[in-house]
Amino acid sequence: LRTLVLVLGDQLDLDAAAFDGFDAAQDGVWMAEVADESTHIASGKPRITMFLAAMRHFAQALQEQGRPLHYMRLEDPGNAGSLAAQLLADVARLRPSRLLMTAPGDWRVLQALKAAAQSCGLALEIREDRHFFSSVREFAEHARGRKSLRMEFFYREQRKKHQILMDPAQAGAPLGGQWNFDAENRAAFGAEGPGLLPTRSRFEPDEITREVIALVERRFAHHPGSLTGFAWPLTRAHALQALQAFISERLPLFGRYQDAIWPGDPWLYHAHLSAALNLKLLNPREVVAAAVAAYEAGQAPLASVEGFVRQILGWREYVRGVYWTQMPGYLELNALGAEQELPAWYWTGATDMACLRDAIMQTLTQGYANHIQRLMVTGGYALMLGVRPQTVHAWYLAMYVDAVEWVELPNTLGMSQYADGGLMGSKPYIATGKYIDRMSPHCKGCRYDPVQRTGDKACPYTTLYWDFLMHHETAMANNPRMALQVKNLARLSIEERQAVRSRADAIRRGEVGALPNA
Ligand code: FAD
Ligand code: SF4
Repeated sequence: LRTLVLVLGDQLDLDAAAFDGFDAAQDGVWMAEVADESTHIASGKPRITMFLAAMRHFAQALQEQGRPLHYMRLEDPGNAGSLAAQLLADVARLRPSRLLMTAPGDWRVLQALKAAAQSCGLALEIREDRHFFSSVREFAEHARGRKSLRMEFFYREQRKKHQILMDPAQAGAPLGGQWNFDAENRAAFGAEGPGLLPTRSRFEPDEITREVIALVERRFAHHPGSLTGFAWPLTRAHALQALQAFISERLPLFGRYQDAIWPGDPWLYHAHLSAALNLKLLNPREVVAAAVAAYEAGQAPLASVEGFVRQILGWREYVRGVYWTQMPGYLELNALGAEQELPAWYWTGATDMACLRDAIMQTLTQGYANHIQRLMVTGGYALMLGVRPQTVHAWYLAMYVDAVEWVELPNTLGMSQYADGGLMGSKPYIATGKYIDRMSPHCKGCRYDPVQRTGDKACPYTTLYWDFLMHHETAMANNPRMALQVKNLARLSIEERQAVRSRADAIRRGEVGALPNA
């Protein structure tokens, strides 16, 4: 064997750089299902199923292309259990002259495979992942000399560089005269509700997926989550169908309702394409092009299309740059010195807080929650409770079908937990229950009252918001974007401060929030 091309579970792209120059007569492809990738953090069942089933479908596509494949299934005899150990065993058997792969999405995996290649004396060539619009080197150049890394500056550079949504009549100017349409976005559904929402694209499990579902139920029986509603796209053809459905049915209202929350429905006008993108079933260029084409055809307003392009061309590329320029130190950051445990009910949904229960139950049953639920509901609560960011990171990495460390870690540690002390975000995302009340009808059906900060009915978000400000008063007073919030603290008497503190302590002791069976 001349070259063994290593393909990981999030590299399911027949056109990946690693396949350039592939010669079926002398090269082979290596893929391995290993338990370690599902157990180093106890991954939820939807996430494990997503990766294994998509890998098996990709294996079929490789075979159809006539690319020789060496595939180790999870339950095959002799499975070594980890990527590195499996690679060593297979190299001894197949005796390739060299190893080749596209850059992986996880720093830990990169180190493990490099070490494995070294220990068997083989060169491991790592090729740039051209799935992304920009390379890590380009991001590093952008980041050089900057104390903080704001997405907005990077995003504008990307718009200009790739000539996306630019004004053809005025060089360097954005289409519509502004870079950002946030003021038109961010609506809630209001008292009349969302009306008839588009249905989510469902892809019923085929035989391959049903086999994986049975395997996961057997082998990972004690892992969190359930698989009864599993319906994610797992092939390129299905991912393209999901993209088309999003563009025609959801994109026109995507921007407007980007931040809305609605009980029982996390899907709303979101794309549900993150897993297909992160597993590389879809390319971000085709996703952005489809959205821009919808605008040009008059099928979606500019505010929505810009809001969507910002997520893909801006946020997605930016967090990848942050990850690869900051690792491995980033994983350990804890700027606010948070040391609380994550409440046990994050793994079961057994809480009496209506908004959190809904977001966690959707996460457990679908492996999905929308962005605002991740940022403001589950993320915001953990931040204000003071949970150790590494524990929060483990939860997000385990739970979501789209979770790969390069995208999950900066979103969790940086954006949601402020553990990088402001490298990514200019202020911590904290809010009282009144914010959730504005964006959703959850509070109307909740045993707590979002307006109250103390007392038996006080919403835990509201209590913890004031407690967070008190706890970090000095640090936050130096942040111009927090100044007004900190100033409001002066309205609290000493007695009120004490009452907030004692209720926050009770929340941290687990006396508030948990249902009896948690
Ligand atoms: P939409 O809301 O429809 O957005 C469209 C696309 O834009 C997404 O498919 C995604 O590819 C991209 N996108 C949007 N926001 C972001 C963002 N902040 N960072 C990167 N890409 C973005 N996204 C992941 O893909 N994997 C994760 O593990 C992940 N973990 C997160 C953890 C936390 C604490 C937070 C706050 C956000 C996280 N996100 C993660 C970002 C975002 O929440 C998801 O990408 C989004 O909810 C996926 O659903 P969607 O496809 O319907 O996205
Ligand atoms: Fe969530 Fe508080 Fe509203 Fe209950 S009252 S739904 S806990 S924000």
